[in-house]
Amino acid sequence: MAATISEEEFFAEAKAFLDANAKPRGEQRAVWGQGSDQVGIFPEKTREQEEAEVAEAKAWRQRVFDAGFGWITGPAQYGGRELPGSYERAWQALAARYDTPPSTPFGIGLGMIAPTILAHGTDVARERYLQAMYRGDVIACQLFSEPGAGSDLAGLQTRAVRDGDEWVITGQKVWTSGAQYSDIGEIICRTDPDAPKHKGLTGFVVDMHAPGVDVRPLRQMTGGASFNEVFFNEVRVPDDHRLGDVNQGWTVALTTLMNERASIGGGGAGAGGTMGIGRLMDLVRHMGKAPDPVLRQQLADVFVHTSVARYTNLRAMAKMKAGQLPGPELSIAKLSLTQNMQRVSQLVERALGPKITADTGEWGTYAWAEFILGVPGMRVAGGTDEVMRNIIGERVLGLPKEPRADT
Ligand SMILES: Cc1cc2nc3c(=O)[nH]c(=O)nc-3n(C[C@H](O)[C@H](O)[C@H](O)COP(=O)(O)OP(=O)(O)OC[C@H]3O[C@@H](n4cnc5c(N)ncnc54)[C@H](O)[C@@H]3O)c2cc1C
Repeated sequence: MAATISEEEFFAEAKAFLDANAKPRGEQRAVWGQGSDQVGIFPEKTREQEEAEVAEAKAWRQRVFDAGFGWITGPAQYGGRELPGSYERAWQALAARYDTPPSTPFGIGLGMIAPTILAHGTDVARERYLQAMYRGDVIACQLFSEPGAGSDLAGLQTRAVRDGDEWVITGQKVWTSGAQYSDIGEIICRTDPDAPKHKGLTGFVVDMHAPGVDVRPLRQMTGGASFNEVFFNEVRVPDDHRLGDVNQGWTVALTTLMNERASIGGGGAGAGGTMGIGRLMDLVRHMGKAPDPVLRQQLADVFVHTSVARYTNLRAMAKMKAGQLPGPELSIAKLSLTQNMQRVSQLVERALGPKITADTGEWGTYAWAEFILGVPGMRVAGGTDEVMRNIIGERVLGLPKEPRADT
């Protein structure tokens, strides 16, 4: 890709924008007892808090986009700057040094749905949604899982029936993260009930505000309600909102799932990686447990495994940079992330003991309960640990396929 601006000029432009619009983050490592002690994965929030956060995130994204940093690598036709991936990485690294609103509401839309619309959407869908998504005007969710179809996604039952230039969708999705504030969703439906299960599916972009869409929150054990069940009662979708060919929805779903594993697993090398081993060492010291040989062993274990995960992620990124598909590395990245989160949970449980069970107001102690209760959700979301192990066993190690219950 030919760049019209040198990387140095781009960096200077980005720095000038951030200096003018955000505060530098300052000391990366939190000082024990100071600032927020929140480490929750699915933190508990009221709807008002969530709405305020989403509004703040949208306003920031709009400013970033209008200044030319919203879709650095994207096609100019849809508002992108067509610059190489190294410019995007430079922006990410620089922006991480500033205190900006969290981009959580856009994680699914930009990490998974936008790349799928770009790859499989019609011109109408690309024109209508891509720029709006990267500018933060439109938020998207992923409508894949159903009560009877999670790991076995191809078994899904939500129906889409053609009616002239429209499709009529009826059925139920579940565990839809962020549906409560989303404007559109990528939905996979069954369009040919007589075809083999992987061959009778079709993908669509559905308007979450359309008549017949009913979003109901699901409360999880962390106290938060970040996901929902979504009911579709004869919801009409124009044919130009179809993703890919009719009955080729499995290919569309795989595009999204590959990007999902990249965004979940590639984001950090596990909790020790994202929050810093320093924070865990501080915790152990402040609990007076530094001499505990088991905890010392656990700390070393977290450090080693998060380092290995980071190097594996770098290998996957290098492959993508070279124009290759990373494939199975993404399953390794996702599994490493959740395994490392589990290691951190076990370490924290041992360091804190009973302090994890009651909120005494002591800084940096009970706050970990939200993290520990959130880890099982991460081990399920985006493909469970067991399913990741199957993929790694079969596609990386070349082991025989597991026996199927239905054959
Ligand atoms: C936090 C969170 C956010 C989510 N967000 C979304 C979202 O935004 N959109 C969306 O569509 N979905 C979402 N999901 C749903 C998620 O994709 C599914 O939960 C996941 O795919 C597992 O499906 P399931 O819950 O039906 O479990 P099941 O597939 O029923 O699995 C039950 C158990 O059986 C095991 N199992 C199943 N098959 C095999 C096998 N072949 N070999 C070995 N073990 C197996 C599993 O590992 C698991 O332990 C989310 C889930 C969570 C937890």
